[in-house]
Amino acid sequence: MKLHEYQSKQLFASYGVPIPQGQLASTPDEACRAAGELGYPVVIKAQVLVGGRGKAGGIRLAQTPAEAAEAAEAILSLRIKDLPVRKVLVDQAARIRSELYLGLVVDRANRQLVMMASSEGGVEIEEIARIKPQAIHKVSLNPFLGLRDYHALTLAKAIGLGAEHMRAFSQIARGLYEAFTHWDASLAEINPLAVTESGELLALDGKMVLDDNALFRHPELESWRDVDEETPAEREARLAGLSYVQLDGDIGCMVNGAGLAMATMDVIKHFGGAPANFLDIGGGARAERVATALRLLLADAHVRVVLFNIFGGITRCDEVARGIVAALEEVQPTVPMVARLVGTNEQEGREILLASGYHLITAATLEEAARKAVAAARGEAGG
Ligand code: GDP
Ligand code: MN
Repeated sequence: MKLHEYQSKQLFASYGVPIPQGQLASTPDEACRAAGELGYPVVIKAQVLVGGRGKAGGIRLAQTPAEAAEAAEAILSLRIKDLPVRKVLVDQAARIRSELYLGLVVDRANRQLVMMASSEGGVEIEEIARIKPQAIHKVSLNPFLGLRDYHALTLAKAIGLGAEHMRAFSQIARGLYEAFTHWDASLAEINPLAVTESGELLALDGKMVLDDNALFRHPELESWRDVDEETPAEREARLAGLSYVQLDGDIGCMVNGAGLAMATMDVIKHFGGAPANFLDIGGGARAERVATALRLLLADAHVRVVLFNIFGGITRCDEVARGIVAALEEVQPTVPMVARLVGTNEQEGREILLASGYHLITAATLEEAARKAVAAARGEAGG
């Protein structure tokens, strides 16, 4: 789950990271009032879950109430990378001397957290990595030792911070680390970490991604989820207990098991097709869940063919077949469908599909199923 800037900064601040004073607003009036209380100049910032807001016009400085109202109005009517802006953060504007980067991520290959810092803050880290990779400095944090002062000092030196900033930088690094570990994040980032004209360090922007698998430990954050982060279909899938990610291809995939779903997508790609989604209906999927899954797939207008790839283990093919038939009765799809059902009760499963009277293109292997789905998506006769 991604957090908004204002949420991330709030969590960082609770661990001692200095942030500008600010208030959230959802109308130009509210923004104006907030600016009045905070004092001018203020910076008004779109709260959307994508980067590069600045370039998209989502961040503006305001010196007067008129400017604040105008900026808030303009920003609140923006869509940034297709996301509507529903709220703005009004922050006391900082006088920036320089912009640094400080971030913490899980390095899966290393099985450790990696803290990264750069003197080239203000641009996205991917951009720094591309244009000036030598400006990114990293330290790996041994999970048994955690963050130590020498880690922070090493980074501070590497990015050229003077002795006068060491203590503040260490404190911010520690706050970021503690927020990260306490809230089970997979990423926490301050960009820019500003050095102000008065020589202070201040986290002007914050970004945090929490591990969804750990969210059950933080039920108080569930209400922080931004429904715009997911498509309506992804949201429905999550509530139904399905793992579903929408993609931009045209072959809808319904698969039991995440590994098999990945393999199915690979094989589709291999034969020149494009999957419309990742969908894992899980082990032991019952008819009802299958029906929900199929409804979701068919609700996607890009889907030109549906591919069922079911490997019956715990999941019984007859149960899945019943789900498919129930869903077909409800949705009455007009796209071709390819089915590969193997494993537990496969014979019963095929008979149920056959008896249903719906035309399904059948396949015995994944390769055959993928070929047929790709052909059907191109409008060539399969079956
Ligand atoms: P992002 O583009 O979505 O990452 O948004 P940021 O919050 O990082 O802001 C982008 C840029 O706006 C920063 O790198 C700063 O240059 C500028 N900016 C943000 N806040 C302030 C502020 O308080 N004062 C000034 N002068 N500039 C700011
Ligand atoms: Mn930023």
